[in-house]
Order: sequence, then structure tokens, then C-alpha cells
Amino acid sequence: MSLFDKFDPLKSRLSLVEKLIGKDPLGVKFDDITDARHGRIGNREILLAGTNNYLGLTFDKDCMEAGKAAIDEYGTGTTGSRVANGSYSGHLDLEAALADHFGMPSCIVFSTGYMTNLAAISGLTNEDDIIFMDADAHACIIDGTRLTGASTIRFRHNSPADLDKRMSRVKEKKGSFFVIIEGMYSMFGDIAPIDEFLDVTHRHGGYLFIDEAHSYGVFGETGCGIAEEQGVLDQVDFISGTFSKSLASIGGFCVSKHAEFEIARKAMRPYLFTASPTPSNIAAARAAVDKIRTRDDLRTNIKDRAAQLHKGLSDLGFDLCADPSPVIAARRPNEAVCALEWNWLLENGLYVNIAVPPGTPQSTSLLRISLSAAHTEEDVNTIIAKFSELKDNQADLMQSLMKMAG
Ligand code: PMP
Repeated sequence: MSLFDKFDPLKSRLSLVEKLIGKDPLGVKFDDITDARHGRIGNREILLAGTNNYLGLTFDKDCMEAGKAAIDEYGTGTTGSRVANGSYSGHLDLEAALADHFGMPSCIVFSTGYMTNLAAISGLTNEDDIIFMDADAHACIIDGTRLTGASTIRFRHNSPADLDKRMSRVKEKKGSFFVIIEGMYSMFGDIAPIDEFLDVTHRHGGYLFIDEAHSYGVFGETGCGIAEEQGVLDQVDFISGTFSKSLASIGGFCVSKHAEFEIARKAMRPYLFTASPTPSNIAAARAAVDKIRTRDDLRTNIKDRAAQLHKGLSDLGFDLCADPSPVIAARRPNEAVCALEWNWLLENGLYVNIAVPPGTPQSTSLLRISLSAAHTEEDVNTIIAKFSELKDNQADLMQSLMKMAG
């Protein structure tokens, strides 16, 4: 028995897909990224519609210049954690800027969004506490609950009533209730009723933690996310986010209305024992915060593009997972069909995400699009046209599937 035998089921699943489309769908290689909307594979230009680059700031001049200037001033890396090597002024400045944006007294910056959730969840809870987690929680939330001694109870996706029921069932607890939801969910693009979750959580004396990884920058009057959009930002206990989407960099943050959150910095292992974000990542994210606070036009554009795409794909008969949002996902009948269609789109110049279990809710197979404020009306017309052509080619695709199966 080899150490690697355990990968046999994954290997056979992948090889089936590879036989079907002639490539590894998880190994796409871009030869160039030209701007926030375009990449190149060989000599084929690709319209990017699956990069979570919601505000299109990866090629914003000010963000790029800030990143370059930080390299000149501070070098390429921090080469250690902030506890071991100290903080740079950029780390502190970014924490202050994010705390100010949310109007909260406390902010801690982490090396990735993934580590933010690992750190906050495992650092803020222990065996005395009980975590209540949405059934569709992202992998890094689930992994965070694996690193803590707290017991975890899942509640039905986006159901404050089910949360209420499960919280009511707990008759005795030593510590605190810690409820975890997301603002906008990454796969379906559906949105949490935060006001209702706040009501249930606080009625039971718990703390509400919201991951706004996909909503920071895009929703809310000043871009703080869904909690701001729903007018309840000042009541939320903790909000986490990532730099790898609207902030066009890499890293993550957690803000809190509780000033005592600051002490957790000294106790969170994924903060203490990993290198801090590089000067250029921090500087680019810092420049992006300013853009988020001032560029309403980006939010207006992405909302208009989302409405346009949602209507276009609905009119074509695609079964979409949620109302218009920057994430628009079409349910496909199974993984094989999804892979064939995803590959057809890529071969025809459009990059979207292939999303399959275990990364999707309800074991769905999805063609997932994430829009960007950089997309133009014409870009979205192109996406709709590609999906229309895909429909016209469906008979041929099914025939090739049958041939493979037969
Ligand atoms: N939270 C959610 C909801 C996510 O979808 C992701 C990653 N896509 C993360 C956190 C982790 O962010 P990062 O990629 O910055 O580690």
C-alpha cells in the first residue's frame, strides 16, 4: 500500500475529465495577463470572466505604482512574522485605514484571506464555546473550526430560523456562542439576510462573524459590504475579508467593533507563526482601499453589468443560482457536461470557472462567472453571445460525450 493510493479516486475522476476535454481543467496556464479583462493562452486572446477581480484594480495605475514604490523602499519581502521581525509602517497604516473605513476600533491584517479565517475562528474560540456555522461555509471557515476546541453546529444555509432553533436547543454552555456566515456566497452569488442573523444571534447572547471576502468593495454605500448595504454594519461583531478580490492584492483582514479584539493578535497561531504580507502587497491593498472609498462608479458599473448578464443568460434559458450579483453561476446537469462546456468556452476565448463538488453547495456542477467593474457593456454582450453559441453547439458536445461513454 503506497502513501499515494488514497489519491486513486481523485486520479480516476480527473483522468475521465482529461480524456473528455484533452486537458486538466484545474491546470490552466495563461501565457500572459494583459489587463484586468484579458489574458492570452498561446496566441488566443481570452476574455477573463472568472477571476474575482471585482473592481478590476489589478491594473489600476495608482495600485501598481504603490506596489512598485513599496518594493523600492522596503524590499521584496518581510522574511518573517510581525512578532519576530516587527511590523512595517505599511501594515499599521493599512490596519488603521480599514478600521476607519468600517468605523470600528480594531483591525488585524493577515497573510491571506484563508489564514484570516483560520486565525480569527481558532483564536477567538476554545472548548468552552459553541460555533454555529452556515451549511455552505467556505473551506477556510470549516478548516478554522477544525483548529479550535469549540464544538461546531451547522445550520441550514441562509436560514436564521434554523439557527434560532439550534441555538435554542443548547441548554448549557460555559463560554460563548459564535455564529459564522458570509455576506455574499462565492459559488451561487446569493446573499445573507444579515439583519435577521443579527437579531437571532444577539437575542441568544452570541457574537456574529461575517466573511465579506466576496462583498467588500462591491456592496454598500462606501463599499464595506453586505452589512453596510443592509444598514446594520455598526451592529456586527466581526467582519473578515481578503485582499485577493476587490483589493487586487494578497492578504486578509478582520475588523471588530470590540476594541478587545486587539489582544487576540498575541494568541492567533496563523498570525504568530507565518510571515507577514509583503510591502508591495500591503501598499497595493492600501491604495485599493482609497479607490473603494471614492470610486462609486466602479460599484455602479459592476451592478449594471451583473443585471445585464443575468438577464442575458436567463433569456437564453440558463438555470441561474441566484438574483443578479457579481457572481453569476449556471447549474449544469453533471460534471462531464460542465467540463465539456467549460472547455468549449475556453477554446472559444472565454474564461469562466468550472465549479464542481466538493467546492459547490448541493453537489452542483456550475459554470461560474465573476464579473469585474472593468468589464464593459460590450464585454458582457460577448459573454452572452458565447453562451448562446455554446447552446447552439450542445448537440455536438453531447455526441462527443456519448462517443466517449460508448
Ligand atoms: N473566504 C471566502 C468566502 C473565499 O471564497 C475565499 C477564497 N476564494 C477566502 C475566504 C480566502 O481568501 P484568500 O484567497 O485570500 O486566501
